[in-house]
Amino acid sequence: MTKQNKSALSEKDGVSISEITSKHSIEKLKAKRKASIGTDTLIASILKRDITALSRAITLVESKNPKHLKKANAIINGCLPHANKSIRIGITGVPGVGKSTFIETFGKYLTSLGKRVAVLAIDPSSSLTKGSILGDKTRMEILVKDENAFIRPSASGDSLGGVARKTREAITLCEAAGFDVIIIETVGVGQSETTVHSMVDFFLLLKLAGAGDELQGIKRGIIEMADAIAINKADGSNEQAAKLAKVEFTRALHFYPTKDSGWQPKVTACSGIENKGIDTIWKIILEYKETTNSNNYFNAKRNEQNKYWLIQTIEEQLKSEFFNQPNVKAELKKQLELIETNKTTPFAAADYLLNL
Ligand code: GDP
Repeated sequence: MTKQNKSALSEKDGVSISEITSKHSIEKLKAKRKASIGTDTLIASILKRDITALSRAITLVESKNPKHLKKANAIINGCLPHANKSIRIGITGVPGVGKSTFIETFGKYLTSLGKRVAVLAIDPSSSLTKGSILGDKTRMEILVKDENAFIRPSASGDSLGGVARKTREAITLCEAAGFDVIIIETVGVGQSETTVHSMVDFFLLLKLAGAGDELQGIKRGIIEMADAIAINKADGSNEQAAKLAKVEFTRALHFYPTKDSGWQPKVTACSGIENKGIDTIWKIILEYKETTNSNNYFNAKRNEQNKYWLIQTIEEQLKSEFFNQPNVKAELKKQLELIETNKTTPFAAADYLLNL
């Protein structure tokens, strides 16, 4: 048998190998071009502020299908040069503090100023259980209808880290689509505020007045992260208590060390329902931007955040690749059983699995 006869291609009657291979590569090229046209068109549409394209891209970014990862990355890369020109605001507070009401009023105020506002959510509960504290779609019904607003309910995922990475990428896509104010909402549960803090420029904590000892109920860490504290629901019979709480918080904040940003966190009172004090909060944010721009903190912080997200992404990806390997899956089960019967130690088991 000659070398040529070994090839399955040469057995086809009347068609030369080169003809078939070239046909094959043309098909491949066509498929490749089709895929890249899809990506390029999507990027172009996002840049033209097409909301449907933006939603599709976020869905791709959120997809767990490995086939979508490449496309999602290509879209992110295409959008990156057009991103970064926004102010990113994190908003946190316990369930019921009035976050969605506040964001709706605040969002409407911003669009009335000609801003384009995107609202994304990080909901730790959606990654741990299937339930969601934040993500029901009936929230912010008025803002949803505003053509200068884009609201995306929280991404779902297996881990807070995974959900956060998707949100981080969604920020890039929203910025490329011309949104100049990005609001990231979260609840004060678990590590979610820390996660949100690591992707925003300005961090706003919503609080309620009058709920007993003002300073007892909040984790010290959150106060330290806050660039502003807004005592919400400062309306009706609550107004007086809110004013008092404002004084108390202002006094308490003086005991905290000065921030690297050189910014002294502000305390204010507001009412999402009655649209009171909302403009003051925007003024505080603009003042923050001015201060941190002039001392270069604004960009330095974004750079630090980018480095942080690089390491986070690598960790996430390595972890997911490791745990998804079929032999690791099988062996992990066995090692867990061995641990249960005291036949190995966690360290020996980990060493064994990592060396597979
Ligand atoms: P979230 O869970 O933090 O998103 O809070 P919501 O925005 O869903 O509000 C929780 C409850 O507080 C709802 O019944 C709202 O009507 C009420 N609420 C929200 N904002 C205000 C406010 O500014 N003043 C008053 N009095 N009630 C408010």
